[in-house]
Amino acid sequence: MVELPAATASESAFVFWSAVVFVLGAVVGSFLNVCIHRMPRDLSIVRPGSHCTQCGKPLRWYHNIPLLSWLALRGRCAFCGAAISPVYFIVELLNAGLWLALWLKFGLSPELAAYCLLVSLFLVGMFVDLEHYILPDEVTIGGTVAGVIFCTVFPQLQAMPNWMDGLFQSVVGLAAGGGLLYIVRWFGNLMFGRKVHSFEKGVSLVLDKTRLRLDDGEEKPEEEAVKDVLTSKRDRIQFQATSGRVGEQNLAGLTVRISSTKLTVGGQSWPVGDAPRLEAVAHEIELPRDAMGLGDVKLMMAIGAFFGWASVLFTLVLSSVLGSVVGVLLIALRAHQWGRPIPYGPYIVAASFVWIFFGPDLTQWGLNVPLR
Ligand SMILES: [Zn+2]
Repeated sequence: MVELPAATASESAFVFWSAVVFVLGAVVGSFLNVCIHRMPRDLSIVRPGSHCTQCGKPLRWYHNIPLLSWLALRGRCAFCGAAISPVYFIVELLNAGLWLALWLKFGLSPELAAYCLLVSLFLVGMFVDLEHYILPDEVTIGGTVAGVIFCTVFPQLQAMPNWMDGLFQSVVGLAAGGGLLYIVRWFGNLMFGRKVHSFEKGVSLVLDKTRLRLDDGEEKPEEEAVKDVLTSKRDRIQFQATSGRVGEQNLAGLTVRISSTKLTVGGQSWPVGDAPRLEAVAHEIELPRDAMGLGDVKLMMAIGAFFGWASVLFTLVLSSVLGSVVGVLLIALRAHQWGRPIPYGPYIVAASFVWIFFGPDLTQWGLNVPLR
């Protein structure tokens, strides 16, 4: 048997293990797709097995091979021909690519384990946020807890010598991330937190006990609990009714104001829940608007827990730059309308990925001081 030179042998081992990491990343990416699809719909991520969301037929094993199946089927269901979203392919490719990049940068190390978990969690958050405008707690709170545990067990993740300092730095980062974003959110809501919506054909609003229903005749009527719509004391809904009634009283021309606790009509007011049923039609209505969700605050806590306070500043600056650039581009391309929410989570996620690979180097180069 011919013996290979040592260098070649270790090189081919390296290529082999790189391929293993990529394939594993794609397999996990395929599971992430299940989470992205089912988590926001409160479905089990274990049962039932993979099936077509159109025709419901269970997939055969060879329809379920990450990356390859989607390509082989050209993005269509093998049974009914329904289009399968390219998101499935993109998530598998992103997770595989990121895992490979982490392996190339960190090698076999605690960093590899910690950051593979983090990027996979965050990819779920990113794609759920893009579609549903929410960041699941599994991602944000789960990520925060994972960050604290990793940094305690492997204090070198925070460039610390022992577990107590690792834990301390992680908690400082968590508090910095949550605190800073909470303040940004508070100011954002103060400045941009109210918006007057106009409806040419009028909008009908019903307040029954603690339920609120809004129907503009265009989209499906939305019914929600008052406390889910008016989340802070400052939040309110206000409009001048063109017609309608509260209990037996005619509303035409009266100003109606709903806060999380109180309904005010003209000079009268009731606690929400005890008020008579209100049915009103209006043409202009002032609604609260969250400039940023609480999910974004919790997401930044997770980043701080993993990477410390410096990463929080970096991520906040880079994500707002990314968000502004992409937002302006989308509006310029008319792919997006003013006033519609743009989720912020995906930009935070993207910025945190930049931090993992380049952040510490970039900030040290920029400020010329070591931050960790
Ligand atoms: Zn199908």
